Amino acid sequence: SLSTRELQALDSAHFIHPFTDTKALAAKGARIISKAEGIWITDREGHRILDGMSGLWCVNVGYGRTELADAAHRQMAELPYYNSFFQTTTEPSILLAAKLAELSPGFSRVFFSGSGSEGNDTVLRLVRHYWSVMGQPKRSTIISRWNAYHGSTVAGASLGGMKYMHEQGGLPIPGIAHIDQPYWVEHGHGMDREAFGKLAASWLEDKILELGPENVGAFIGEPVQGAGGVIIPPASYWTEIERICRKYDILIVADEVICGFGRLGSWWGSQRMGFKPDLMTFAKGVTSGYFPLGGVMVGDRVGEAIVEKGGEFEHGYTYSGHPVACAVALANLDIIEREGLVQRVAEVTGPRLRKGFAALADHPLVAEPEALGFVAGLVLAKEKGGPADGPGFVPFAPELGVGMVCRQHCFDNGLVMRAVGDRMIVAPPLCMTEDEVDELLRRIRYCLDRTYEDVRA
Ligand code: PLP
Repeated sequence: SLSTRELQALDSAHFIHPFTDTKALAAKGARIISKAEGIWITDREGHRILDGMSGLWCVNVGYGRTELADAAHRQMAELPYYNSFFQTTTEPSILLAAKLAELSPGFSRVFFSGSGSEGNDTVLRLVRHYWSVMGQPKRSTIISRWNAYHGSTVAGASLGGMKYMHEQGGLPIPGIAHIDQPYWVEHGHGMDREAFGKLAASWLEDKILELGPENVGAFIGEPVQGAGGVIIPPASYWTEIERICRKYDILIVADEVICGFGRLGSWWGSQRMGFKPDLMTFAKGVTSGYFPLGGVMVGDRVGEAIVEKGGEFEHGYTYSGHPVACAVALANLDIIEREGLVQRVAEVTGPRLRKGFAALADHPLVAEPEALGFVAGLVLAKEKGGPADGPGFVPFAPELGVGMVCRQHCFDNGLVMRAVGDRMIVAPPLCMTEDEVDELLRRIRYCLDRTYEDVRA
């Protein structure tokens, strides 16, 4: 029974935190989260905090679901591990593969990984393998977008478009190209949104023509960019992207790591955005974060080619199809279905969140509040300025770190809200009730008020 201070000292001496300045954190001490229930997390000092980020976009069914713990316990007691390399497999991984196929029309097969990053590494291998099998091995380039997040492995970070990650890691690896993201606030000032969506999609065609269509294998994108700041593209964007990819016979990969399993009010984000991918990466919500699991849903065009003609796929992870992860995923999907969480987000709680976010537009700090399903974002603006048809705001100087100031007010006042620069974002658990959505919105407004007091001073 160590004290919080003792634990914090051990933490800063031994634990390098992801995406964290460990030295700066040591001065302050990490907040130690010790338990959670429903939509609430509690730290070791007893502060109860509304988790507006579902952990890291993953705890879709909320905390404290003993069914998931029971499923893990049963499976661990019976068979904690076996691999799927030796022409062997396990019952939970078979049943989960079949369940995922049932939830994904046109995707009869799945490749399992342990995380979303590994899923995107698998995508790179699968795309190149597919085009080799099809006799077009030159089609090895994958086009992605700036500010996308596709994970932290070498391929995942290369596919991603976070320039600060590239700089630190000597990335991207060869064979990956990027185009600008469909962020209206940044690139579409004053334009009609739908016209901007088509313009942003046309950057893909420009890039394909620059590289030569015969060299391009796939385009990858998150249906709604998440870690980049919840960038919700105009409705015209994905329709146009799909048309362009089909025109040049380029595979479409939807990175569904955040958007999958109900986050946008549909099983898959691509369904909500109205396009049909050839491959879909998933992770997070498949187990609601209770156990690590990821993978790639393989559309029938690719699946049939690689299975019928491709021979052995030289790729795999020790934990591909981990039986405990798969048992937890099955129990998790059962909860999502039984409680109708996808439908509830689509019809009840998602629209309520959207309405509440739109109402934040009257706040003196808030520009461009937007929500879709259970993701939402807004920009903290120095001056809100202009009309609704253009961003028209003046941003804060980045060195002020206003987003981080707001994030701290949120934590101090019982709310997890993430800051991406000066964009504040939420992605709450899908199990939220209507009252809990209202409570989330109340807390957001309160924390914006506290931030406004600071920046006005
Ligand atoms: N893809 C997207 C869209 C993500 O948001 C993430 C993680 O946040 C990943 C991939 C990487 O997943 P993981 O952290 O499980 O490797």
